[in-house]
Amino acid sequence: MSLQLTNEQLTAAAREFGTPLYVYHAEQIKQQYEKLLSAFNGSKVVFFYAGKALTNLNVLHYINKLGAGIDCSSINEVKLALHAGFTPQRILYTSNGISFDEIEEAVSLNVNINIDSLSNLEKFGQKYGHGYPVGLRLRPNIMAGGNIKISTGHDKSKFGIPVEQLDKILVVVKKYSIKVTDLHIHTGSDIKDADVFIRGIEVLFDIIPHFPEMKSVDLGGGFKVPYKDGDEEFDIDLVAKKVKHAFDSHPQARNLEIWFEPGKFLVSECGYFVTEVNVLKETAATTFVSVNSGFNHLIRPMFYDSYHRIGNISNPGGTEKNYSIVGNICETDTFAWDRSLNEVREGDLLVFYNAGAYGFEMSSNFNSRLKPAEVMFEGGKARVIRKREAFEDLLRHQVHP
Ligand SMILES: *Cc1c(COP(=O)(O)O)cnc(C)c1O
Repeated sequence: MSLQLTNEQLTAAAREFGTPLYVYHAEQIKQQYEKLLSAFNGSKVVFFYAGKALTNLNVLHYINKLGAGIDCSSINEVKLALHAGFTPQRILYTSNGISFDEIEEAVSLNVNINIDSLSNLEKFGQKYGHGYPVGLRLRPNIMAGGNIKISTGHDKSKFGIPVEQLDKILVVVKKYSIKVTDLHIHTGSDIKDADVFIRGIEVLFDIIPHFPEMKSVDLGGGFKVPYKDGDEEFDIDLVAKKVKHAFDSHPQARNLEIWFEPGKFLVSECGYFVTEVNVLKETAATTFVSVNSGFNHLIRPMFYDSYHRIGNISNPGGTEKNYSIVGNICETDTFAWDRSLNEVREGDLLVFYNAGAYGFEMSSNFNSRLKPAEVMFEGGKARVIRKREAFEDLLRHQVHP
């Protein structure tokens, strides 16, 4: 059973810190991490938290204390990770389409790097030769993930060097005797099928013999978490069993470390987004519930058509009725259409669940609205970990020429 904050805890946080409010539950992150550890118990495995899901420094610091590594998507995430206390050896920068300057900076910071283009590999070879170990991000041409917008390993994806270009990779690697120590794939997000990882491994196993200095195989992230009632829990134990079996039965892979980069799996369920109902509007088509937020704070429903459970924590015993939950910004920003909720009244608190991953992190100032505060419960106590923005924040960086 997943750890949950109670309605009382969420209500108290909303009263104390105001709404809209992102609330995270530290011990739930720990529980998720421990599920991973226990599933892969006995394997040489390292989990690099995909930091882009949620980069609040306090969350990073907490995950660092748990003992995980971190996978970064930009040089600034690398710097945040260092700031939060991760050692360079446990930081991985999986690049995509970045300028070579950032790779040089990552080298100067001594972190692990996955290169995703022949062009940057060539520049890397020219500059560092055999002097700095590096990983290669490959595109395995596997279709996986919840929908096309979050699929990253298929044959039209921009991510990684296509595996069919192995010959070209080998030419560059040989020319500069580049020290390739890791092969990486990441096929997408919301993956529920364990076999996706096995198909990925099989693609990599054919390639490993070309790189005698390899130390690890990185299978990326994307483990699905339950969003809807009735969604199955991703079977991490089954994945672990199958992956172990695959590694044990390949002599050339047996001694390699297995790396994963879970984002959602670690931080989705720990997060709650608490909003307040501004307006109820009856129409012929539906009853609209407008909350004091919008896709400026939680973009996933409009961006990915993703489903978030919503609860009326102010009236949990109220008669269920159908509503359309929308935001207050000047765009169509529907969180949910025709959703059954306990009777909603103006002023009620509505909570969006699974709001930890890609929630605050994707928020913006659209409509000149302010970003919410973030709060973390740890040891039963709620503390602010990011202040709510103020009007002055909208003026910062704007200058009179
Ligand atoms: C986004 C990303 C992840 C994490 O994906 P989740 O679905 O959040 O687990 C892992 N690795 C890479 C390279 C990514 O870009």
